[in-house]
This record gives sequence, C-alpha cells and structure tokens, in this order.
Amino acid sequence: MTDRVALVTGASQGIGRACAKALASRGAHVVAGARQADKLAALVEEIRADGGNADAVQLDVQDQASIDAVAASHGKSIDILVNNAGITGDGLAMRMRDDDWQRVLDTNLTGSFRCARAFMRNMVRKRWGRIVNVASVVALSGNPGQVNYVASKAGIIGLTKSLALELAARSVTVNAVAPGFVDTAMTGELDEEARARILSQVPLGRMGQLDEIAGAVCFLASEESGYITGHVLNVSGGLYM
Ligand code: NAP
Repeated sequence: MTDRVALVTGASQGIGRACAKALASRGAHVVAGARQADKLAALVEEIRADGGNADAVQLDVQDQASIDAVAASHGKSIDILVNNAGITGDGLAMRMRDDDWQRVLDTNLTGSFRCARAFMRNMVRKRWGRIVNVASVVALSGNPGQVNYVASKAGIIGLTKSLALELAARSVTVNAVAPGFVDTAMTGELDEEARARILSQVPLGRMGQLDEIAGAVCFLASEESGYITGHVLNVSGGLYM
C-alpha cells in the first residue's frame, strides 16, 4: 500500500486503532482521525516507532465543520477511507429516548455518509479508491435492545451498495465489513452472563480479535480486492451466515 493515503475514522482505540496500525504496517500513510487527541498522538508515535507513516487529525464525524476541516487539510490525498467511528446507545425501543436514537444514527450512519461525500473526490479524480465501511452482523440478524444501532448499521449496508454503484465507473470500490463480537470498549460493558450467552451462539466459540477485523479491512482496501464492490464481508466466527 506504499503511496496510498488512508483515513481511518475512530482510530483512537479498538477496531479503528487496529486498522490504522495494520494499514500502516502494509505501507500506507495513515491519517488517524477521532476526538481523543492524546490517544491519537500515542498511536501515531507507535506507528512511527515501527517505521510507518501516520498523522493525527482531530475529527468529530457528528460535526460537518470538523469533517470539512480535515477535508481541507488532507482531502486531496486520501485514497482509502475506513468509516469505522461508531457508538452504541442501547435500550428497548419502547423506552428509547429521541436523543439516543439520533446520536447513534448521526454518528454511525450520517457520519459515514458525510465522510464518504467529503473524501471520495480525490478517489474519483484519480480513478482509484477504496471505501470500507464498518457495519456489524446485527445489521443482518437484528438485535433486541439495539434498534438505533442496528438501524444505523443496516443503513450503512444500503449506503455501501448504493455508493458502490455510483462510483464503480471510476474504479472506486465501496465495501463493508460486518464484525461479530469483538473484545473492545464497546463490548466491555457487557456482564459475564450476556458475554457467555453471545459466545454460546458463535460457532467458532470465541470472540473476534482486533487483527482479524483489521485484516479484512486491509484486504478490502488493497489492490487485490479491485474486483469486489458492494460486498458485505462477515467477520463473525460464523455468528451470522
Ligand atoms: P470503541 O472501542 O468504542 O471505539 C469507537 C471509536 O469510535 C473510538 O475511537 C471513538 O473515538 C470513535 N468515535 C466515536 N464517536 C466519534 C465521533 N463522533 N467522531 C469521531 N470518532 C468517534 O468501539 P469498537 O468496538 O472499536 O468499534 C469500532 C467500530 O466497529 C464501530 O463502528 C462499531 O459499531 C463496530 N463494531 C464493533 C463490534 C464489536 O464487537 N466491538 C462489532 C461490530 C461492529 P473518540 O472517542 O476518540 O472520538
């Protein structure tokens, strides 16, 4: 991936951080975006210490002005966009507040759309680009207590397919990775019982590792995946088939 510049949103921790490190280790210049500047600075330092190239950018995907600022500083060079930033706001639908619905939709779905809109320009101009959206298997299966999150991730799959059709003529591919149950801060809030219940449904019998999600993202961002577009790649240990 030498000569490629990859923007990863939500790179300060978890899956986004792993994607940033994996892309950098494959030679890409990584632009790591998120709100927590201190964590981004530590990531950039780590990547550079390993011989890679990276910059940190302050990015809040809920805020169009913040996206515009990154587009102004880095937009002309981005070849690969990994739309990873995401949040949950769980609760049963009957009791869900508008704010919990809106916050999750704004970050996960609208944030992904706005970043794609802002950063596809250079790809279209160069007639080469990769957009990889991080969805979730629950977008395909549904999940009680997560109507907002699941709707946002199902929306990302629709966004992926429609954008893939719009950009195919310019050799820009748009795909999604649908992780299953991965050990990050997002799943860290689950109690032991919930954890055991989910794991009992995973045919491979374990949680996904960060590197396994990052590896799938790297593949879809690579040269070799050039004939794959509009695809949703489940990385879920067989949780959903
Ligand atoms: P995580 O550890 O909670 O990390 C979430 C990341 O998103 C953080 O880096 C956070 O950075 C960033 N973020 C949140 N709101 C943001 C905003 N407004 N602007 C910019 N960045 C923002 O979660 P994770 O498990 O790594 O999740 C990463 C992605 O994978 C999410 O889209 C999630 O839905 C998806 N996923 C996770 C799992 C799982 O089992 N963990 C399964 C399926 C899908 P800042 O706080 O620094 O902004």
